Amino acid sequence: MARRGLLLVMSSPSGAGKTTLSRMLLAADSNITMSVSVTTRKPRPGEVDGRDYHFIAKDAFTAEAEAGGLLEWAEVFGNFYGTPKKPVEQALAQGRDVLFDIDWQGTQQLAEAMKDDLVRVFILPPSAEELHERLIRRNQDAASIVAKRMAEASREISHWAEYDYVIVNDDVDRAFAQIQAVLTAERLRRRRLTGLTQFVRDLTKGL
Ligand code: 5GP
Repeated sequence: MARRGLLLVMSSPSGAGKTTLSRMLLAADSNITMSVSVTTRKPRPGEVDGRDYHFIAKDAFTAEAEAGGLLEWAEVFGNFYGTPKKPVEQALAQGRDVLFDIDWQGTQQLAEAMKDDLVRVFILPPSAEELHERLIRRNQDAASIVAKRMAEASREISHWAEYDYVIVNDDVDRAFAQIQAVLTAERLRRRRLTGLTQFVRDLTKGL
């Protein structure tokens, strides 16, 4: 049945497992595509330009924002991050869903611009200790950055109540199943099923 695509936002402090959960969702579900952000941050080891982010210079970022090419943007940890508008519009027009890994600031901007299409999920770590361990285990950032990200975590978490769903990631398979359940239910919302009126009309003709 024809339906309108939705925008699934996943926010969390760094290290809560959001990247892993995003990858699992993209691998399991062919109807959702990742919104690849532009950022002025330097790539971490293993990150691929065009897959994880479009890594760009500050002046290119500013130019893109000023030209109206970004759906939302924010400064996080001294770097700039933004969502290119065009791929999102193309996906929605094709009835596809789009997954966003953006922070609370970007989520607020999307809520202002596209509230009806938005589904907001916040991922929480099971404990502060676990979050710290995950950041160290990841070992991709310098120790000073880990400390900074721990400090930023409480600020990010303070926005949990602005989200539609909150998932505690103490077990990645369970958290993943919960995200899938959210997505399944949100896809079934009546207002998104644009083909429903015609379907029911045809159905009742035969009754
Ligand atoms: P990281 O540097 O760890 O990849 O991301 C840092 C933070 O920036 C994360 O909370 C992530 O969700 C957020 N972020 C990544 N891309 C965007 C974006 O396009 N817009 C906004 N507002 N936040 C983003």
